[in-house]
Amino acid sequence: MGSKGREIIGMDVNELLGLLRKAYSDEWLAYYQYWLGAKLVKGPMKDAVGAELLQHATEELAHADMVALRIIQLGGTPVTKPEEWYTHTNCGYDAPDDPYVKKLLEQNIKGEQCAIGVYTRLLDLTRDKDPVTYNMVLTILQQEVEHEEDLQALLEDYELLMQAVKG
Ligand code: FE
Ligand code: FE
Ligand code: MG
Repeated sequence: MGSKGREIIGMDVNELLGLLRKAYSDEWLAYYQYWLGAKLVKGPMKDAVGAELLQHATEELAHADMVALRIIQLGGTPVTKPEEWYTHTNCGYDAPDDPYVKKLLEQNIKGEQCAIGVYTRLLDLTRDKDPVTYNMVLTILQQEVEHEEDLQALLEDYELLMQAVKG
């Protein structure tokens, strides 16, 4: 990266790169979990849930893009082999083997809660140390918070619908 750009970073760049590579792996796994879930989803409200899952997939891929660009800017290399996503990931991957709406919503809410934790820690770590990464992490964190809220609102609608059906 540019020499002045590196000079303004007040922390261990290799440590930061390690954490960004972990976040990058999380984003690809989240992307795939959402993308496939959107195709397989079954049950009440599946169209609304599928549309939200697909939108989130697109946003997770955009996060992977942002994190990859920052890794490269810092002089690092994003994870080059998909099988390594599994060794680096913080939040893991929940296969949509049971694609019932409630199950998919619960799996992805869990994923978002993990992502919120990961980016909150990265935000704390980069605060006053690396303003460029800090700003990117804040942008991503804002979207992860929105994702959790979107999914919890859908789960709430689903529960209300189920109650109404039971009478
Ligand atoms: Fe994300
Ligand atoms: Fe998300
Ligand atoms: Mg959304």
